[in-house]
Amino acid sequence: MKDSNFLKENNARHMWHPMAHPADSMANPPAIITGGEGVHIVDVDGHRAIDAVGGLWNVNLGYSCQPVKDAVTAQMEALPYYSTFRGTSNDKAIELSYLLQEYFAPDGMTRSFFTSGGSDSVEVALKLARQYHRIRGEGTRTKFISLEKGYHGTHFGGASVNGNAKFRNSYEPLLAGCYHIPGPYLYRNPFGITDAEALAQQSAAMLEREIGFQGANTVAAFIMEPVLGAGGVMPPHPTFMKLVREICDKHGVLLIADEVITAFGRTGDESGSRHWGVQPDFMCTAKAITNGYFPFGALMINGRVAEVFESSKGEGSVDSGYTYSGHPVGAAAAVAAVEETMRIKPWQNAATLGPKLKAGLQDLASRHDIIGDVRGEGLMCAIEFVTDRQTKAPATGAAPLAFQKAAYEDGVMIRVSGNNAIFSPPLVIDESHVTQILSATETGLKAMVAA
Ligand code: PLP
Repeated sequence: MKDSNFLKENNARHMWHPMAHPADSMANPPAIITGGEGVHIVDVDGHRAIDAVGGLWNVNLGYSCQPVKDAVTAQMEALPYYSTFRGTSNDKAIELSYLLQEYFAPDGMTRSFFTSGGSDSVEVALKLARQYHRIRGEGTRTKFISLEKGYHGTHFGGASVNGNAKFRNSYEPLLAGCYHIPGPYLYRNPFGITDAEALAQQSAAMLEREIGFQGANTVAAFIMEPVLGAGGVMPPHPTFMKLVREICDKHGVLLIADEVITAFGRTGDESGSRHWGVQPDFMCTAKAITNGYFPFGALMINGRVAEVFESSKGEGSVDSGYTYSGHPVGAAAAVAAVEETMRIKPWQNAATLGPKLKAGLQDLASRHDIIGDVRGEGLMCAIEFVTDRQTKAPATGAAPLAFQKAAYEDGVMIRVSGNNAIFSPPLVIDESHVTQILSATETGLKAMVAA
């Protein structure tokens, strides 16, 4: 490994980071991570911390998942690459599709289309949604509706349905025909609603209104995260996704569940769709499918949608794909990660420890006015920073960074995004880790107030 000074200097000099100003890595040098073990990461200076980010919502099983490491090593030897484009396939991709459909996917999802990551899975879902309607003779259905605060990756389609102006504005004009409705964000919603179920009904009513306003025969799909994630972790009322499903069915609109974060256990169930008792038409996955060890994604397709493609003539051909669709090493990593996930059922731990983490954060909020809101579902939680609880003015700028730095120095890596601190630790943490995460959070809060 190159020494610490070499890495720091060259990071600042040569490397641009996602979601960051290019000059930022000089002003705020990143933690340079060089090791991982269990639920801990180690940086280039030897500092060890619990990874309460879980990589990037993806290292659900931690950094020492031997079956995945072994599977990757063995596959590198057996077959490091082969494509799944028409005319060829590979054994690991086939094994993975069997495993996903037979054991993992919510009922009704019968097919997989493999991708290189979450943004790719979203992109293919949007394309196939349009194609589905075209095959059925409803080619006027081209529009997409999505939730404000939703995050759907960074390709042009995903950015277009993205519900956060920050990720859209620099890249406009985006895909035409994408519309947004207010989502189930109870702390700040345009209706002044304070009851989660009432807000679920209102947001669902907004969806139906938007479909009507656009004309149902022009709307291809509604895309949503079962729990809004990167936008700041906003769990909806348990009725919301079911209401959405009913409205989509009523108007012939497809439902795309973007489960890039929520699939494989994070909400406290195998998937977010299962958590809310809903069968989507498409389900986008990536991230934890390989425990984050290899870039890979899977779009899962409902049998009734698949049937339309499979029974069509030429117009059902999937004219979209990635060089790395079904990459054998990624597929091997995914087979091992999904098998391990099915074996240890980490969603059970998420369902037990998530509420404890949330309760601990609520306790901190009772003592620290800088926390305006605490949210969570399973092991995805957020605290929202405000400078004033009455006005809910967001605390942004240097203060959240001071929080992050102090928490890290106290032994826990916590992600800060805008005025939210986001907690998405590996699902295999134990109660002692929750205690340490809460303790470092309090250290961060004190540093933030001092700053
Ligand atoms: N969709 C959701 C819900 C996500 O959270 C993300 C990434 O965080 C994506 C899509 C994009 O995934 P990727 O970064 O793997 O392209």
